[in-house]
Amino acid sequence: MAAELIDGKAVAARVRARVAGEVEALVAAHGVRPGLATVLVGDDPGSAIYVGGKQKASAEVGIEGFDQRLPADVSEYEVAAHLERLNTDPAVSGILLQLPVPDHLDGPALVELIDPAKDVDGLTSISAGLLLQGRPGLRPCTPSGIIELLDAHDVELEGAEAVVVGRSLLVGKPMAQLLLERNATVTTCHSRTRDLAEVCRRADVLVVAVGQPGMIGAGHVGEGAVVIDVGIHRTGEGLTGDVDFDAASERARLITPVPGGVGPMTIAMLLVNTVEAARRQLEPEPAEAARR
Ligand code: NDP
Repeated sequence: MAAELIDGKAVAARVRARVAGEVEALVAAHGVRPGLATVLVGDDPGSAIYVGGKQKASAEVGIEGFDQRLPADVSEYEVAAHLERLNTDPAVSGILLQLPVPDHLDGPALVELIDPAKDVDGLTSISAGLLLQGRPGLRPCTPSGIIELLDAHDVELEGAEAVVVGRSLLVGKPMAQLLLERNATVTTCHSRTRDLAEVCRRADVLVVAVGQPGMIGAGHVGEGAVVIDVGIHRTGEGLTGDVDFDAASERARLITPVPGGVGPMTIAMLLVNTVEAARRQLEPEPAEAARR
């Protein structure tokens, strides 16, 4: 079987067009434009490219950008004070602290300072707790983008065997939670899993986020499975994923390429979260309105 491609670029373009419409609807209803603040500490060129891409994508859908750059030797106190200012700035609907931060700063502790109502990366412990409890909240962008991709291809999740390889806070754990929320039977694998290939072969839906180039091969893929490759690795021949694409394509029914699969969805979902955050700030649910 030669797998059909899941075209992340096309799905992301549709999501972005939808977000652009939602931005204009919010502006029409409230006279306020959603705003996204990105905070980049230091001058790592890779991180600067990521942040630039996020700001460009925001501008394209009409979100106002606040591109904040702090010097590499900034103190933790100064970053904290900066985040606090953004938390209270009504023009800022969403805040993203670009990770990793320089070694002298505690990235997870700084992320915790972001107001959960503006946590568009969905990485604070409040956002993680809301996801665990199945309550409304901002979800991490990469796993929620994967759910969009699966929905775009009408992949049945209810009752499906879903295997997630990787248990990071960024991808694996929230991915497992979102699949569970959709009534899949979810198994999470990690570096101590015995006979990884055998567990993976059971999957109707296999999501791979291990950070090891080409680690998942034909022996890990059951006939007719849907394979989602989250990995991104820069090699001499360009970008590649955690899945051996050619080998896995022989057995899979649907598969994401790298590049052009999961990657474009991550930024698209950041835009979705920014508009969602703005909408909740402008049109709070009764319990939320009472708290404010
Ligand atoms: P982490 O390094 O944080 O987590 C990797 C996970 O894989 C860990 O849970 C680890 O297990 C598990 N693992 C590592 N080796 C093995 C193995 N041999 N067998 C089974 N499990 C293993 O990575 P991330 O989740 O942050 O990212 C994963 C990949 O996805 C990276 O390539 C990253 O660049 C990419 N990525 C892509 C994004 C996109 O937008 N496309 C967004 C985010 C990430 P253990 O916990 O036991 O150590």
